[in-house]
Amino acid sequence: MAVLLSTKAATMAMWRDALLAVDPTLEIRMFPDAGEPADIEAAVVWTAHDMAELRRYPNLRLIVSMGAGVDHLLRPPGPPPGIPVARLVDRMLTTQMGEWVLLNVLRFHRQDLEYRAQQRDRVWLELDAPVTAERRVGILGLGELGTHAAGLLRGLGFPVMGWTRRPRQVEGVETFHGADGLAAMAARSAILVCLLPLTPETRGIVNAGLLARLPRGAFVINGARGGHVVDADLLAALDSGQVAAAALDVFQPEPLPPEHPYWSHPRVVMTPHAASITIPSSAAPQVVENIHRARAGRPLINLVDFSAGY
Ligand code: NDP
Repeated sequence: MAVLLSTKAATMAMWRDALLAVDPTLEIRMFPDAGEPADIEAAVVWTAHDMAELRRYPNLRLIVSMGAGVDHLLRPPGPPPGIPVARLVDRMLTTQMGEWVLLNVLRFHRQDLEYRAQQRDRVWLELDAPVTAERRVGILGLGELGTHAAGLLRGLGFPVMGWTRRPRQVEGVETFHGADGLAAMAARSAILVCLLPLTPETRGIVNAGLLARLPRGAFVINGARGGHVVDADLLAALDSGQVAAAALDVFQPEPLPPEHPYWSHPRVVMTPHAASITIPSSAAPQVVENIHRARAGRPLINLVDFSAGY
């Protein structure tokens, strides 16, 4: 039996080597060279792979996302019926996202955009001292990534709040859930961080209504998916001063077209979906573990709940 890999050519070779380093007996096929369709038992795929194509493999028993998100796998037509999907829960992914969130929280908190503009203009001017304990951060999503980011921010002394689908308790974090909880948290979020999965419920959640609830001059940080943000609403909020600045790693579409207003907006800081990048050697052990479990009929790890959409 064989494992099908599908992503960019350069990354595919890294994945092949990483999986073979964990289990040298695996037979790896690199898409589109899948060989005999009946040989394929597992597909490890990233965003560009067509889910309809996976219906060609009669013995497929596992699909693995090469990242933490699975929205690309679940959108229509979705995975072949009855085939489980696993995602990555990986320390290196979590660490990188924590760093990216910290980088941008501190950038805004420490008035870095203002000081960079002052340096450009050779202006020597001390701005008001920021008070960490008064800069409340609200995190949309307290899963693997959100909980880790919350811990880092708490460690620096920021008051941290978090919003989830189900009621949840996280030490030192004021938690909220449901529509009322979202409104209540937004009203006190001087910095709003989105670390939600993209699902039908969360698409467009950072919209004019939510942005209007933030304290005036709040900051928005999106490290989740471009589809969470209604771009026209965020741009309007930036231009009106309701939102003071935004840090965005994810966009719709990606790559973001060169004519998009975000590129040149003085109050938008962008990274090219690089907040947290999968390192195959770190992710490979859990993928191989799942392949072994699928073969043995044992329960899989990091499974996606299709009914919840993440
Ligand atoms: P998890 O599944 O571990 O956590 C998701 C969190 O979102 C949970 O707390 C969940 O609530 C909450 N949530 C989901 N749906 C809703 C809803 N409708 N209302 C309120 N809360 C909701 O995901 P991760 O933390 O691992 O990853 C989050 C996302 O980050 C990924 O889906 C991916 O899209 C994105 N990502 C981006 C990367 C980048 O480089 N930019 C890299 C990696 C991931 P509950 O606790 O109740 O389940």
